[in-house]
Amino acid sequence: MVTESLTQGIDDMIPLINADESAFLDQVRAFVASEVLPFTRDWENATAFPDEIWPKLGKAGLLAMTVAKEWGGRDYSCRAYVEACRELAKGDPALAMNVAAINALVAAHIEHFGSDAQKEKYLRAATEGHVKLAWGLTEPDAGSDARRVQTHATPIEGEAGWYHLNGEKMFITNGGKADLIVMVARTGEKELSAFLMETNQPGFELVQRIHTVGVKASNTVHFKLTNARAWHTPCTFEQAISLLYRGRLGIAAMAVGIAEKAFELALEYSQQREQFNRRLCDMQSVQNMLADSAMEIEAARLLLLKGASLYDAGKDVVKASSYAKLYASETANRVTNRAIQIHGGRGMTDFSLVEKLWRDAKLTEIGEGCSEIQRLVISKQLLKG
Ligand SMILES: Cc1cc2nc3c(=O)[nH]c(=O)nc-3n(C[C@H](O)[C@H](O)[C@H](O)COP(=O)(O)OP(=O)(O)OC[C@H]3O[C@@H](n4cnc5c(N)ncnc54)[C@H](O)[C@@H]3O)c2cc1C
Repeated sequence: MVTESLTQGIDDMIPLINADESAFLDQVRAFVASEVLPFTRDWENATAFPDEIWPKLGKAGLLAMTVAKEWGGRDYSCRAYVEACRELAKGDPALAMNVAAINALVAAHIEHFGSDAQKEKYLRAATEGHVKLAWGLTEPDAGSDARRVQTHATPIEGEAGWYHLNGEKMFITNGGKADLIVMVARTGEKELSAFLMETNQPGFELVQRIHTVGVKASNTVHFKLTNARAWHTPCTFEQAISLLYRGRLGIAAMAVGIAEKAFELALEYSQQREQFNRRLCDMQSVQNMLADSAMEIEAARLLLLKGASLYDAGKDVVKASSYAKLYASETANRVTNRAIQIHGGRGMTDFSLVEKLWRDAKLTEIGEGCSEIQRLVISKQLLKG
């Protein structure tokens, strides 16, 4: 494979994956080749994944990669998790985005902050794909400034741990399909916390499906909550949001996978197409684009693996995850743009996947904190103390 040789040597430098994880990643590559890549256009055209994808993802171990074995998970390292997200993104970036968020933000939330009763009720079924998950932070008036969340949580009298939620959530991935959503809501003037909310109840109402320029198969929605019943998972806002640090590594992995696939397609095309009696890859301007892309992909992958390795070592990854997400997402956008350029007119058509990868790449600069927020996080870390 072109992309394997592209980043050759990186695996040897960071030898954290054990034999079990290595076998899992081989299975993920096979799963992507047979169950994901052949259908990526169809899913985009249908703006939906087939319902069968969830149990298939569960069976493949992709919905609970880092969850403890006692709750049905695989207990894999962060390094294995990001590698799996990267492989999935080469097949379908929208699916990789869903899987990344479900693992890092939802399954992890239930595992870290849920009671045994909550884990018993939801976690095992979620890891099997029978309970579909989503994560609800963003609102019409609370995006980058997540502390502005207006959705209000009021304790239900006589029902310890249960609250009524009122408000609206916007841009929620898988929100129209999910059976269970982790909801961030306001419990006081200054306090926020998080809750588990089942969607099959009268208080949950879809406002609209949101159609995006990329990751189109992903079910992105806006919904409204009117006295929706939700089960408290006692945690502070900071604790709930801290899951985003590993989450950002998942988005960085998605970006690296997109960039690698686009590079692979551009390299192959440049070796086949001839103009002026020369292959495109024999022209220096094209070589420059290939060289820059290959180098940036390798740098992005190294930042990603550094972040994942720090996480696995129990170190703080606030800066490392922002480095990885910021650099990988901007790399994915540059590399997919160059891949279209190398394909010329065909790059702008659905003859090739490069135009889709270019559109899918945009999400990585926006979701889980836009690039400006990543720069803010990094500079705060640099200036603190
Ligand atoms: C496809 C998709 C899926 C998503 N999935 C989810 C999900 O599952 N769950 C969820 O909770 N959210 C989700 N989101 C929401 C996403 O996290 C937000 O869109 C993102 O955090 C930005 O918020 P915003 O769109 O409100 O933009 P705003 O916060 O309004 O920002 C707009 C722009 O202003 C600039 N900006 C904002 N703040 C600053 C600042 N402090 N300094 C400098 N510039 C700044 C940036 O350029 C930014 O892009 C998703 C979004 C998309 C598009």
